[in-house]
Amino acid sequence: MALLDKYAPLAEQYRRLEEAGANPFNVPFDEVLSPTEAVIGGRKTLLLGTNNYLGLTYDPAVIEAANTATSAMGTGTTGSRIANGSYGGHKQLEAALADFYGRRHGMVFSTGYQANLGIISALAGKGDHLLLDADSHASIYDGSRLGYAQVTRFRHNSPDDLANRLRRLADEPGDKIVIVEGIYSMLGDTAPLREFAAVKREYGACLVVDEAHSLGVLGATGRGLAEQAGIEADVDFIVGTFSKSLAGVGGFAVTDMEGADILRVVSRPYMFTASLPPGVIAATEAALHQLRTRPALRASLNANALRLYRGLEKLGFALGPEPSPVVSAIMPSPEAAFGFWAALLKAGLYTNVSLPPATPKGLALLRSSVSAAHSPAQIDQAIALFAAIGRELGLLTGESVLAAAK
Ligand code: PMP
Repeated sequence: MALLDKYAPLAEQYRRLEEAGANPFNVPFDEVLSPTEAVIGGRKTLLLGTNNYLGLTYDPAVIEAANTATSAMGTGTTGSRIANGSYGGHKQLEAALADFYGRRHGMVFSTGYQANLGIISALAGKGDHLLLDADSHASIYDGSRLGYAQVTRFRHNSPDDLANRLRRLADEPGDKIVIVEGIYSMLGDTAPLREFAAVKREYGACLVVDEAHSLGVLGATGRGLAEQAGIEADVDFIVGTFSKSLAGVGGFAVTDMEGADILRVVSRPYMFTASLPPGVIAATEAALHQLRTRPALRASLNANALRLYRGLEKLGFALGPEPSPVVSAIMPSPEAAFGFWAALLKAGLYTNVSLPPATPKGLALLRSSVSAAHSPAQIDQAIALFAAIGRELGLLTGESVLAAAK
């Protein structure tokens, strides 16, 4: 028991949420009905807090691919990629990802979290320098600890701050590796990638872009922010996940770097874990095919994102700086976020609560995410519920209280 005493203040908060029957961090879905609806606590609920950006979790072709592969190859590989866990499907998916990105190498990991751990820790060892955006995802921070490199954080989305820090490191030995994200998962803002790419070129650094939230969302063919910004040639490694637009689980990295296959035998998060089951691999390849051949999904997603963003903005909510499939309302306090979240759920709308340290600037966020599968009527229904509960809780009276928290 004493071992866990260090968590006492947090445990007390957690207990109170559980007691109130409204713990956003422990919500079982009784049934999932579609990409946009589930039964939660016995009530049919509109889902506005999943990462199912393209709504492909129930796509017939994706489900069939999963079923066929499972029937043919079994439920799991029971082994690592470097032992008995590399099947033809893993290789085929790596080739499909490399082809999609126009790169020579593709590498599949068991989660997106592990893709970041595996790439970052293998690229940046002792004596090297990692330069991380201050708002980086936990997997990027955790990966940077794993490799024993020296870690420097630069101001969020600030190419000038990155340039200053690279300048100071110019005479230091070791490789310099810069990591940024396409769309940031907490506030839905995008990185100024053209400017980051220019800094990277000037200082001869390596650039890694995590497109977890931008794959299938941005770019002329859905490859992400680097494609949209026209700087793919400056990105040395693209990292991403299968758990959002690709509707499954897993992660990947693609690169043109000569000799990249060596990462397969030095990247511990790739080597020392079991590989993805054949059904997941086949489903992911089928989802990638849908992503590539149905640009209308991306168009619906972005239209829904804009509809939700503009709707909440008009109501007076303080939001992230730009429309994106992640639409976060900034709450005045964690308590307000919990209260708002619980009231929305009671009214039949599921969203997410995000709190520090996961959020930037200590913000308490009520975080929504949009899917291509939402109908405009569902988005409008969500906006109406935000309006009703915002007023009920006194958060939308007169000039927005929330704006003060921005
Ligand atoms: N990178 C970013 C930016 C993410 O937001 C996430 C997941 N939220 C991940 C990586 C990890 O992805 P996965 O869920 O596949 O482990």
